[in-house]
Amino acid sequence: MSERWDVIVTGLGAMGSAAARELARRGLRVLGLDRYAPPHAHGSTHGRTRIIREAYFEDPAYVPLVQRAGRLWQELGREVGEPLQVRTGGLMIGPEDGELVRGARASAEQHGLPHELLTSAEVRRRFPVLVPDPGAVGLLEPHAGVLFPEACVRALLACATRDGAVLRTGEPMLTWRAEGGVVRVATAIGEYVADRLVLALGPWLPDFLNGAQIQLSVERQMQHWFAPRAQPERFAPDALPITLWETSDRMFYTIPDFGDGVKVAVHHDGEISDPQRLRRTISDQEDANARAIVERFLPNAAGDLRDRAVCLYTNTADGHFVIDHHPLHPEVVIASPCSGHGFKFATVIGEMVAKLTVGEPVDGISLFHCRG
Ligand SMILES: Cc1cc2nc3c(=O)[nH]c(=O)nc-3n(C[C@H](O)[C@H](O)[C@H](O)COP(=O)(O)OP(=O)(O)OC[C@H]3O[C@@H](n4cnc5c(N)ncnc54)[C@H](O)[C@@H]3O)c2cc1C
Repeated sequence: MSERWDVIVTGLGAMGSAAARELARRGLRVLGLDRYAPPHAHGSTHGRTRIIREAYFEDPAYVPLVQRAGRLWQELGREVGEPLQVRTGGLMIGPEDGELVRGARASAEQHGLPHELLTSAEVRRRFPVLVPDPGAVGLLEPHAGVLFPEACVRALLACATRDGAVLRTGEPMLTWRAEGGVVRVATAIGEYVADRLVLALGPWLPDFLNGAQIQLSVERQMQHWFAPRAQPERFAPDALPITLWETSDRMFYTIPDFGDGVKVAVHHDGEISDPQRLRRTISDQEDANARAIVERFLPNAAGDLRDRAVCLYTNTADGHFVIDHHPLHPEVVIASPCSGHGFKFATVIGEMVAKLTVGEPVDGISLFHCRG
C-alpha cells in the first residue's frame, strides 16, 4: 500500500530544506526525501560560507527578495539559538562601467541602499591587503555578509521536523509520475503518493524533468582556502568585507578568514559536468591558478593552502533561477536551478515554493518562470 502525503519534497539541500520547513509550518503533511543525509558535500551547498549581499549586480529585482531572505535567516538563527550569518560588508571591485560595479550601483541607487564608491587608492587605504588595478573602483555596501550553509540547512531541517515533516535520508527518488491528480514517487523502498511534489534536486534535477524543456547546465566549481602569510588580523571578518572582483578575464570572490583561511573562488569558469561523472579531485595546476589570483590581488593571503573543495552550479540559460510549476504537470513545483547565486535566497525561495504549492499568489517571482 502506498503512503499518502500532502506534499513530497525531493532533495533536502538548501532549497528543499527551506521548502519542507515552510510547508510543514503551514500544517501540511510533508515527506522529505534525500539521496544522502544533508548537509553533505556531494551537491551545491557545502564549503562553510556563502555570500549574502544586497547591492545585487545581477538585477535590482533581487533586492527586495534578498532583504526578506536576510530577515528570515535572522529569525531562523534566533529560533534555533545559533548564529547563521555574520555581517562583514561587501566590496565590489572592477571597472566603473563593468557588469559588477555598474549593476551593483544600479541596485543600490534604485533601492536606496547605503553604499560608497571608492577609487582604487581609497580601496587600498581602507583595506591595505587588497591590490586592485589602478583604474578599478570599489562599491562598498555595509549590509553584505556571510551565511554558514551547513548550519543553515541543519536549522531548516530541524524546524521542518519539529513542525511535523517526516524526513527520510539515504532514500533517493528513482522516478516520479503525475496521473489522476496525484503524484507518485518511487524509491527503492516503496511508492509514495501525494497531492503535490516539489523537485529541489539541485544538480541532479536534469534527470528528473519528465518532459519539461528547461535548458540547464551543471558546472564544476572550486573553492580554495589559503592561510594568510602576513597580517592575519587584516583578513579577519571584522576587518575585511567579502569581496567580488571583475577583472579583464573573470569574476571571482573572496571571503574573510573565519578560522579556516581566506576563501577564494572563481565565479563561472568551470567545466560542464554532472554529479555522476564529476571530477571531484583538484589538480595541482588548479591549485596554482587559485594561488595566482590571491598572489595578484590579496598577496598577503597567499600562505599555505589549507583546504579546497569541488561544488556544482546548476545554471539556467539566462542566469536567473527557475521557481515555477512544471510546465506539463502543475501539481509539481520546480525549485532550485539557481545559477550559482541562490543560497542567500533559500529562505525566501522556501516561502515561494510553499505558496506555489498551495496555490497562493507569489510576489517577485516573474524572473523565475520556466522559459525552456
Ligand atoms: C562553490 C559554490 C559557491 C557558491 N557561492 C554562493 C554564494 O556565495 N552565495 C549564494 O547565494 N549562492 C552561492 N552558491 C549557490 C548556492 O550554494 C546554490 O544555489 C544552492 O546551495 C543550491 O541548493 P540546492 O538545494 O538547489 O542544491 P543541493 O543543496 O545540492 O540540494 C539538492 C539535494 O537533492 C538531493 N538529491 C539528488 N538526487 C536526489 C534524488 N533522486 N532523490 C532525493 N534527493 C536527491 C541531493 O542529495 C541534495 O541534498 C554557490 C554554489 C557553489 C557550488
